[in-house]
Amino acid sequence: MSQLDSPTVPLGGPTLPQERRLVTPIPGPRSQELMARKAAAVSAGVGHTAPLSIVAAGGGILLDADGNSIVDLGSGIAVTSVGNAHPAVVAAVQEQVAQFTHTCFMVAPYEPYVAVAEALNRITPGEHDKKTALFNSGAEAVENAVKIARKHTGRQAVVAFDHGYHGRTNLTMALTAKHMPYKAGFGPFAPEIYRAPMSYPYRDGLDGAAAAKRAIGVIEKHVGVTDVAAIIIEPIQGEGGFIVPADGFLPALQEWANANGVVLIADEIQTGFARTGAMFASDLFGIVPDLITTAKGIAGGLPLAAVTGRAEIMDASHTGGLGGTYGGNPVACAAALAAIEVYETEDLSARARHIGEVLEGRLREIQASDPRLGDIRGRGAMMAVEFIDPATGDPDAALTSRVVRAALDEGVLMLTCGTYGNVIRFLPPLVIGDDLLDDALDVLAHVLTSS
Ligand SMILES: *Cc1c(COP(=O)(O)O)cnc(C)c1O
Repeated sequence: MSQLDSPTVPLGGPTLPQERRLVTPIPGPRSQELMARKAAAVSAGVGHTAPLSIVAAGGGILLDADGNSIVDLGSGIAVTSVGNAHPAVVAAVQEQVAQFTHTCFMVAPYEPYVAVAEALNRITPGEHDKKTALFNSGAEAVENAVKIARKHTGRQAVVAFDHGYHGRTNLTMALTAKHMPYKAGFGPFAPEIYRAPMSYPYRDGLDGAAAAKRAIGVIEKHVGVTDVAAIIIEPIQGEGGFIVPADGFLPALQEWANANGVVLIADEIQTGFARTGAMFASDLFGIVPDLITTAKGIAGGLPLAAVTGRAEIMDASHTGGLGGTYGGNPVACAAALAAIEVYETEDLSARARHIGEVLEGRLREIQASDPRLGDIRGRGAMMAVEFIDPATGDPDAALTSRVVRAALDEGVLMLTCGTYGNVIRFLPPLVIGDDLLDDALDVLAHVLTSS
């Protein structure tokens, strides 16, 4: 009998011991069994980073069916920032799910939806009047931000950026830059989407003003100011490689957008909710977007997304033009209200800044004797390292995969990203303990010596 069959084994949430512990090689027999069933039953199009069968999670630990405790440096892609199965989220969900699970907000409204809108209007950047609409996924929020911007401006063109990621639906695939795996063979894509060059200081060497001038030049020459409804940008790019634009780039884009009646959409789906050391990354760069899309960290793991922005833009749509059957589901809203309270009362922004200092300090220490760590960048608990061949400066995706695999063998789950697949990104839950984080970074340093 496995220890997991024993009723005394702690479940998820804060009762799960916060320590890395391996009792089998990864994947163990039960995880292998699930991977075989997955291969037979689940579409091959749905991949996985780690071949695990997770049975419980809490804080910064994932427990698999074989009894292995894995350190979680990904938070399910920046989702469980408050910690997996946070007790406040669990309690809010349990209370709501026992009251009612769904009425459809467009049919018979309820208070938690309105309360989430009020909270988002309050905590997003800018003091202007704001309104919010809720959806199910990040991609759906992006789709709706574009709908709203087009309706408001009466224009059609939307500008996205090199290395940008905005989702996997048809419109958001068009907005997303990277071909493999997101777009390959899935066209035709939505029309009237244009791409401008991003500020990528490590690889383009441009300061913010020069990078903005280059991007604005492309937009004016290739798209035309009078046709642009919106520009959409991640203040720090997520899937594209945790690319932090040079200082001044985002403010210059905002100034240009404001001057030309173009809606500036900040896609803060990955950067939002304390992740970067501020409630929203726009705050770090001193920009006030017209619209902001959020999802991922919003509800402690439940599916919810939002578009929040200037009231006059958000009200541009005719009544009934926005919505969806499940958008703003009451259980997801209850979870969001609990999670937002945790971000604020536990000051998880400060916690993210601390995690960022620990990560950056340790990564720079490793870099000092390992030139394969080409660039270390990010803000707060959204840090990354870009791996290169030191002789040429070329991206080294093979090394990146070897490191991630070797770390998993030691019980640390890390995610990659980047157009060239050569970036390891660190997105730990913001409640991860210093001991657990130090331990995971020891594992990284160790596996690098033999990778
Ligand atoms: C994850 C992500 C999306 C898409 O969100 P889904 O919930 O997966 O649809 C969009 N934009 C950014 C910046 C993201 O990181």
